[in-house]
Amino acid sequence: MPLIPKSHPRAKSLLIREKLVDGFDRGLVAKEGLLAQGRGEAFDYLLGEKTGKAATYAIKVAAAQLLLAKQPVISVNGNIAALCPKQIVKLSKQVKAKLEVNLFYTNEKRKQAIIKTLKKNGANEILGSKILSSRKLPGIDSARRIVDKDGIFVADVVVVPLEDGDRTIALRNVGKIVITFDLNPLSRTSQTANITIVDNVTRAIDLLINESKKLSKMNQKNLQKIINDFDNKNNLKESIIQIKNNLTRRSKIA
Ligand code: ATP
Ligand code: MG
Repeated sequence: MPLIPKSHPRAKSLLIREKLVDGFDRGLVAKEGLLAQGRGEAFDYLLGEKTGKAATYAIKVAAAQLLLAKQPVISVNGNIAALCPKQIVKLSKQVKAKLEVNLFYTNEKRKQAIIKTLKKNGANEILGSKILSSRKLPGIDSARRIVDKDGIFVADVVVVPLEDGDRTIALRNVGKIVITFDLNPLSRTSQTANITIVDNVTRAIDLLINESKKLSKMNQKNLQKIINDFDNKNNLKESIIQIKNNLTRRSKIA
């Protein structure tokens, strides 16, 4: 891995990029995954590369929703396995959610590489690789509709980080509660999920783990109130305002 000096103004962003490139070389990330990262980076730049108020709020609501869920599942793709494998396993243990490998661009070799990475990072069981367990989600085309009968198929709450809009809509249509991490507040995924965390998953995941730990002592009624008080559309507007304010500030000093 090339050395990026800590003093480099874009060091953090470049290190994340290196993780993706390294993940690509190890067979975890699809070419398209690199492009998705680029799209995310652009929005991160506009957001000021920090966790804003709206993201902090969505993280709290997501923690409450995961703790209240009966059968939560975290969907893992190549980008997530490359960016934060340890944390995603830690989150699944913290909120007792199952892990399912679910790829936009299916490829058995890549799936196995992702499973291996998750296992190396402490995961016990990973769903999504047994053909006999596969089921089809209605309302969506081709490979993307395949889910595990013990995982997403029966889940009440599904975490889909860095997801495509078609799948998010399909999950909503079959009644799933969808939580996503997505740096673009305008994407179809952001707009259709129940809870959208507009932040870089690499920053937000630790915050979600900590919040889940904190809220695990709260009773169900209070957790439900946190969820009931939340309005995703309004919160997305806050992220758009964060971008607008950031641009206004930059337009004055540029
Ligand atoms: P949609 O299909 O939901 O309309 P899209 O087609 O614009 O979105 P996709 O490539 O389908 O984009 O989905 C990838 C999403 O993941 C993008 O919205 C991108 O901003 C986001 N993303 C990429 N990298 C990260 C990251 N590290 N953290 C959070 N979000 C990210
Ligand atoms: Mg898309």
